[in-house]
Amino acid sequence: MTEKIWDLVIVGGGIAGSALAITMARAGRSVLVLEKSMVFEDRVRGEWISPWGVREVKRVGLYDLLVKAGGHHLDRHITYDETKDIETAEAAPLPLSMFVEGVPGPLCIGHPHHCQTLFDEATRAGAATLRGVDILMIVPANTPAVTFTHQGETHTVRARLLIGADGRQSAVREAAGIPLNQDKPHHWFAGMLVDGVTEWDDKLQAIGTEGDFAFLAFPQGDGRVRIYGSFALEQRGRFAGPTAQYDFLRAFELGCSPANRHIAEGQPAGPVLSYFNNDSWTDTPYRPGVVLIGDAAGWNDPIIGLGLSITYRDVRIVSEILKETDDWSALDFAPYAEERAERMRRLRFAASLTSSIDAEFGEKAKARRKSFFERAAADPTLGIHGFAIMAGPENLPPEYFTPEHRARVLGETA
Ligand SMILES: Cc1cc2nc3c(=O)[nH]c(=O)nc-3n(C[C@H](O)[C@H](O)[C@H](O)COP(=O)(O)OP(=O)(O)OC[C@H]3O[C@@H](n4cnc5c(N)ncnc54)[C@H](O)[C@@H]3O)c2cc1C
Repeated sequence: MTEKIWDLVIVGGGIAGSALAITMARAGRSVLVLEKSMVFEDRVRGEWISPWGVREVKRVGLYDLLVKAGGHHLDRHITYDETKDIETAEAAPLPLSMFVEGVPGPLCIGHPHHCQTLFDEATRAGAATLRGVDILMIVPANTPAVTFTHQGETHTVRARLLIGADGRQSAVREAAGIPLNQDKPHHWFAGMLVDGVTEWDDKLQAIGTEGDFAFLAFPQGDGRVRIYGSFALEQRGRFAGPTAQYDFLRAFELGCSPANRHIAEGQPAGPVLSYFNNDSWTDTPYRPGVVLIGDAAGWNDPIIGLGLSITYRDVRIVSEILKETDDWSALDFAPYAEERAERMRRLRFAASLTSSIDAEFGEKAKARRKSFFERAAADPTLGIHGFAIMAGPENLPPEYFTPEHRARVLGETA
């Protein structure tokens, strides 16, 4: 392990790291994956892959694997709201097969199971995979080196390319001196898994806002639903303490969506964890000998649920660059950086607009939502950021990502 120079050493064996390991091991490259955890646990992470993300999953050849592992497609969406009557909200559910040809809708799969499925497949594809690794030192250079302990022994490995796939707090990003830009948190975002929700239509996703809470519900099949809720920054600790899980379930009892009572009556199947909702990004997610992918390269506000889609696109683009040539002495990751920067800028815009509409509370925000729903019914371009979320941000003209468009959507122009 320590004598050879690996083609790739990947720090982090979650979605980004394992997916890239599979792709490159299948292409005949020598790959070493270093994963910190011994077991993938529910940290309340992404379990919903948008239709454009599913297309990326297909393009990297992992779709059949995920479906075989229990991936569950959703086919309809309803937006509830305290300013809409239920009949209006339920009259015309949005068909989710309309966004990407050949994709029936978003794909849901439990996060720890998703990670384990990819990690196992990376091993099967020929990657060397280690768990319980403690990274001691990372030396980014043309032939980067990583020193770590594993099972009580210290090793130093070297690679032609080091991949940082180690998530939000990336040690590789830190070692490579790649700055992380972050915008201000907009609201809190909590999530939990619920079991026993057998009365909820398991192909239907729903969102809605009422009072001081905005909910999202994504069924995973067999009565299991991943639920999320947005609430104001001033309500720090709203879902903390010994009754947190049941407090969170009770928050789903909303008049605007009567079916939510089935969720509220379900059983917690994991922790409830709250995160600050914000965006982050890196201007250049690479340095000589080092490339960042997935959350390590910067993440999108989870309110629009695109971290997995972003990650799979990173894996596709980086693996295409690596497969293009055998000569890795002059690899050019600039096209990856350029595409990612514009992709994240557009998604930041879409997330910020979504947060302003769905996750602001009080009378003023309520009146704005009512006005938005009425105006968007007459002018669908006002809700077109939803198309960027479902079909991919590159599929809209640039004028839909401008301050002028934002002002128009929020009714701030005369
Ligand atoms: C509340 C919330 C809800 C979300 N919902 C969605 C959603 O519905 N849809 C969606 O697409 N996205 C969603 N996301 C985002 C999505 O979960 C992430 O974008 C995605 O998990 C990124 O994958 P990753 O592999 O880059 O990072 P991670 O999933 O964070 O994986 C990083 C891996 O690296 C390992 N690691 C970390 N440090 C080290 C180290 N020093 N050494 C070795 N290994 C290390 C970790 O153990 C882990 O296995 C959500 C995120 C949050 C916070």
